[in-house]
Amino acid sequence: MGSGKLFLDDVNQMFQEAADLISMEEGLAAKIRVCNATYVTRFGVRLRGQMHTFEGWRSVHSDHLSPAKGGIRYAPDANLEEVEALAALMTYKCALMDLPFGGSKGALRIDPAAWEPDELERITRRFAQELERHDFLSPSQNVPAPDMGTNETTMIWIADAYRRLKPNDINAAACVTGKPASAGGIEGRVEATGRGVQYAIQEFFRTPEDIARTGLPASLEGRSVVVQGLGNVGYHVSKFLSQEDGCRITAVVERDGVVRNEDGLDIEALKAHLGVTGGVADFAGGQFDPAGATGLEDPCDILIPAAMEAVITGENAPRIKAPLIVEAANGPLTYAANEALAARGVVIIPDLFANAGGVTVSYFEWVKNLTHISFGLMERRRDEMGHRMLAQSIERMTGSHFPEGSAQAFFEGAREVDLVRSGLEDKMRSAYCEMSRLWNGDDRAPDLRTAAYLIAVSRIAGHYKALGI
Ligand code: NAD
Repeated sequence: MGSGKLFLDDVNQMFQEAADLISMEEGLAAKIRVCNATYVTRFGVRLRGQMHTFEGWRSVHSDHLSPAKGGIRYAPDANLEEVEALAALMTYKCALMDLPFGGSKGALRIDPAAWEPDELERITRRFAQELERHDFLSPSQNVPAPDMGTNETTMIWIADAYRRLKPNDINAAACVTGKPASAGGIEGRVEATGRGVQYAIQEFFRTPEDIARTGLPASLEGRSVVVQGLGNVGYHVSKFLSQEDGCRITAVVERDGVVRNEDGLDIEALKAHLGVTGGVADFAGGQFDPAGATGLEDPCDILIPAAMEAVITGENAPRIKAPLIVEAANGPLTYAANEALAARGVVIIPDLFANAGGVTVSYFEWVKNLTHISFGLMERRRDEMGHRMLAQSIERMTGSHFPEGSAQAFFEGAREVDLVRSGLEDKMRSAYCEMSRLWNGDDRAPDLRTAAYLIAVSRIAGHYKALGI
C-alpha cells in the first residue's frame, strides 16, 4: 500500500474516533469524511526542446463553506491519496479555527529543484490555467496557498495567470494567498505558520493542568527543543522559540542528518549554512551525525516535527523520549505512532491546530484582498494621536514623564503586521482553550487530537444541519 493511502487511512481513522463520540444522524459522518471531488490533470509543456507531461491534482474535500482553501505542493512523490488526506485535514483545520472556508489541497508531481525558475514559471502558469478552466481556482470557490516545494513566487505566478484569464474580476488577487506583501500579500504571512506554532506552545504553557500531564517545569523558558526540518515552518518556530521564549534548540534534523548542540544552536547561522550548502553537515556550531532520524529520539522537552508526514511510526515511537510533541508538519505521526505514544502518556499537540497559523493568516490576506485596503490604514494615525493625548494627560496629572524606552512603543499605532500577529494569537489561544476545556472537562476527550476533531466535526455537522442537508 502506498504511503499516501496509509496517510489517508490514518486521517480517516482519527476522524472516525471523534465522529463516534458525537451523535449525528445516520450517514452524516460518512458524508463529512469523504472527499467531494478530485480533479486530475495531465498537461504538457515544451521545455528544453521537448514536450514534458506533468501530473497534478486539486481536491475539494468539503465546500460546506466557500471558498475551499488549501495549499499546493510540488513534490516528486506527490499522489492522489496524499492530496485527499491533506484536503481533509484542511476542512477540519478551518472548522477548528472557525474560518469561513471549506477544505482543499493540490499537488504537482515534480521535483522543483530539477527545473530552472523560468521553467517552473511556465509549468505553474499552465497548471493554473488548467485549475481555473475547471473551477478549481477562483477567489469565491477555491483559493490555493504555498506548501512544500512552493512559495510566494509560485503564488504570484498563479495570481497573474488567473488575472490574465479573468481581467474583469476586480477580486482576482484573492484567488491565492501567500503572495509577497509587495504584491497583494499581507505582512506576517511568511512567518505565520511558525508563529502560530509558537503561540500554540505558549498557550500550552499557560495551562497548568496540561503542563502537569507532561511532567515538564511550568515555564517555557529554558526548555530544550528538537526540530525536524528547517524550512519555512521549522525555521520560524525555531527562531521565535530561541530568540523570544528562551528555549534551547538542541538538535535540528534535516535531509542529510542531524546537528546537535546541548547549549542551543544558533538558528540564524544554521539557516544561512543550510542555504549555502543545502544541508546541516559541517556546520561549525554543532556536532553532525548523518543518522538524522536518531535526532527525533534525543532526550528533549519538546519535539517539533516540521518537515513532512509519517516520520514517527509504530517502529520508532517506542524510542521517542520527548514528553511533548508539537505537530508543526501535517501528519508527522502515523495512527500507530499516535496510539503508542498516547498510551505512554506523551502529550501531542495535533497538526490540525498546531500548524493552523498559515491558513489563519491566509484568511486575513483573503479578506484584505476582497476589501482592497490594508489592515490598520484607517485607524493607525488616529490611534497614535489618542495615545499621545492620553500620555500627555497622564504626564500632566502625575508630573512625571513616560520612560524613554517604553514611550515610543506606547505611542505607535498598530502596523499591519502587529494586527496580523494579534489576530493570529487570538485565534490560536481561543482554539487551544476550547480544546483544553474538552480535554479536561467532565466528558473528557481522551487527548488533544480527539478534542480538536470533536470541535471541527461538530461545527461542520452544524453547518450541514443549518443548510438542511
Ligand atoms: P519547506 O519545504 O519550506 O521545508 C521543509 C524542510 O524539511 C526543508 O528544509 C527540507 O529540507 C526538510 N526535510 C524534508 N524531508 C526531510 C526529512 N526526511 N528529514 C528531515 N528534514 C526533511 O516546507 P514547509 O512549508 O516548512 O512545510 C513543512 C511541513 O509543514 C509540511 O508538512 C507542510 O504541509 C506543513 N505546513 C506548512 C505550512 C506553511 O505555511 N508553509 C502550513 C501548514 C502546514
